[in-house]
Amino acid sequence: MSEKIASKTAMELEDKYGAHNYHPLPVVLAKGKGAKVWDVEGKEYFDFLSAYSAVNQGHCHPKIIGALTEQAQKLTLTSRAFYNDSLGVYEKYITEYFGYDKVLPMNSGAEADETALKLTRKWGYLKKGIPENEAKIIVCANNFHGRTITIVSMSTDPDARNDFGPFTPGFIIIPYNDITALSKALEEPNVAGFLVEPIQGEAGVMVPDDGYLKEAYKLCKASNVLFIADEVQTGIARTGKLLACDHEGVRPDILILGKALSGGAYPISAVLADDDIMLTIKPGEHGSTFGGNPIAARVAMAALQVVKDENLADRAEKLGKIFRDAMKTIDSDMVEIVRGRGLLNAIVIKPKNGKTAWDVCIKMAENGLLAKPTHDHIIRFAPPLVISEEELTQAIEIIKKTIISFG
Ligand code: PLP
Repeated sequence: MSEKIASKTAMELEDKYGAHNYHPLPVVLAKGKGAKVWDVEGKEYFDFLSAYSAVNQGHCHPKIIGALTEQAQKLTLTSRAFYNDSLGVYEKYITEYFGYDKVLPMNSGAEADETALKLTRKWGYLKKGIPENEAKIIVCANNFHGRTITIVSMSTDPDARNDFGPFTPGFIIIPYNDITALSKALEEPNVAGFLVEPIQGEAGVMVPDDGYLKEAYKLCKASNVLFIADEVQTGIARTGKLLACDHEGVRPDILILGKALSGGAYPISAVLADDDIMLTIKPGEHGSTFGGNPIAARVAMAALQVVKDENLADRAEKLGKIFRDAMKTIDSDMVEIVRGRGLLNAIVIKPKNGKTAWDVCIKMAENGLLAKPTHDHIIRFAPPLVISEEELTQAIEIIKKTIISFG
């Protein structure tokens, strides 16, 4: 049995013994079910962060937890030194699900991004004929792909980069949602890939213009450059389609998934590509002790099946519209912009009487809804996709009431 702990004690322990690399809202959670979580004192909240879109299928989905606990009692980890009886089944399942020849399983989103970068470079040298060590990858300003040294090397966020140099070379950074800039960057020699988030989540849910992804894909094809989509946050039904790229009928050459691939039950990520790209990496050239372990394989299959069985993409599409329409009617000059797609949405908050997005989030928590500011003035709203319409209506009332209370 786990010991009971008061909120204050839990926060003091994290503060004293944990690295200070996060700034959490002062809420200590102990339980989750569906779209709701409860703190250690039993107070109930709507979860409008969903662990940064990892819990699309809702907290502790019984089918996902069932797969997890069943497999955990049989076989947890073999490493890839041997075959196991779950991985191949999962690989068949996920490649058919997303329509690719092959998958490379990893654990975190950052690892999957790193994998995609390595794969892109390998392809660049072996297939495109780029001279040794000359490969370049185009990325977008204000991107977020994780926290490793190479990933922060392509970041433009000072908090992500400062004092972490020297950085990995080989990236060309262009503005997001700028086709002219992409077209120009593609003129440079030795470009192997273009890595893009179909919607920039961490940047504050920046939705590009209609047609951007499609045009970007076309330009990449014309230059024999790989189009690489980081759908770690936008994928798995979050934006109202299985993938955000589906909104424009774009099929990425390399697809990066994470977060909701496990419904939040386990760290699981994946890179998908066709043979021409994936088979450029040979045994011993890349891997991970835990990637593709039997628990991950069973959990991911269950999590993806839930997305299909419960029509989560359609739910996200429908409920997202209701949410944005409601947010646009909030009668407060604090609501500067409402934007998003499906159930990945954000409000840009105009500070009022010294009160910022952080204060709004603190007040929303008091009123029973959890969300977190990104970049000081933006609040992201991304509930589990299993939220019912009735729950969404209640949540909307909490958000409205909270913002209006600032006058
Ligand atoms: N890529 C995108 C688009 C993300 O939003 C994130 C996390 O927020 C990552 C990659 C990194 O994932 P992880 O935190 O699992 O390493």
